[in-house]
Amino acid sequence: MPDPSSRRRLLQLAFGLAAAGLSSPALAQTRRRAAPLPLVVLDPGHGGKDPGTIGVTGTHEKRITLAAATELKRVLERTGRCRVAMTRSRDAFIPLDGRVEFARKRDAALFVSLHADSAPGARGASVYTLSDRASDSLSAGLAKRENQADLRGGLRLPPVSPEVERILFSLVRQETRAGSDRMASSVVRALGGEVPLLPNTHRQAAFAVLKAPEIPSVLVEMGFLSDRRDEAALKQPAHRAKVARALAQGIHGWLARA
Ligand code: ZN
Repeated sequence: MPDPSSRRRLLQLAFGLAAAGLSSPALAQTRRRAAPLPLVVLDPGHGGKDPGTIGVTGTHEKRITLAAATELKRVLERTGRCRVAMTRSRDAFIPLDGRVEFARKRDAALFVSLHADSAPGARGASVYTLSDRASDSLSAGLAKRENQADLRGGLRLPPVSPEVERILFSLVRQETRAGSDRMASSVVRALGGEVPLLPNTHRQAAFAVLKAPEIPSVLVEMGFLSDRRDEAALKQPAHRAKVARALAQGIHGWLARA
C-alpha cells in the first residue's frame, strides 16, 4: 500500500491528467456526462424604442425578429441537444454591447443575431460574419445602420506577459473566426433548401453585435422588409416556422462538428 503522502501525490497526478484531458476513457465519459449542454444565445434584433426597419406595409422589424427567435428557441429546445437563451424575450431596448455581454457572461457556445433589415433592391435571406472590411457595399450599409454602439471586447486571460497575451488573443480570435465561418456555411446550406437566398449569401461586415472575441457569432438577415415579397412572407407564422426549422438544422449541424 502506498503511504498517505504518496497516495496524495498520485491523486494529484490523476487530477492533473484528468484536467489536461488525458484521463481514462471511463473518466472522460463521466466528465462528458457531467458537462452541461452547449448554450446557444439567440439575439432578436432591435426592440423597445428602436423598431428596426419599418416594412413597405408598416411591419416593424423588432416584432419579426422576436417572433422568429421565439419559434427558433422552441424548435431547438424540443430536440434537447442544446440550451437556449434569448437576449430579449419582450419588446425591450438592449444596446448592442449589452447583447454581446449577455452571451459572454453565460459562456455561450454560439451567438445568432436575427434581423430583417432594409436593403433597397435586394431580396432573400443572407448570413453575415465579422470582418473589419465589408465584402460589398450592401453589407457595409447594413453594418453601418446596425451599429448604434461599439464594443471593445476585453478577453479575460491568465496573467501573462503582454507579448504572450497578444499571441493568445490572436489565436482565440482566429479560432472564433473559423467557427463563425463554419456556422455561416452550415446555415446557408440549411436555408438554401427552404427560402429564397440573396446571391453571395455569406457576406462580411463590421457588425458591432458580432464582436465577442471568443464566441462564434453570425447575423442572419431572414429577408429584407424593404422588399414587398420578403415582408409578406416574414409576416406569416408558417414562413417563420420554416426559417426556424432551417436555422435549427444549421445550428445542430454546427454543434455536431464543434
Ligand atoms: Zn436589424
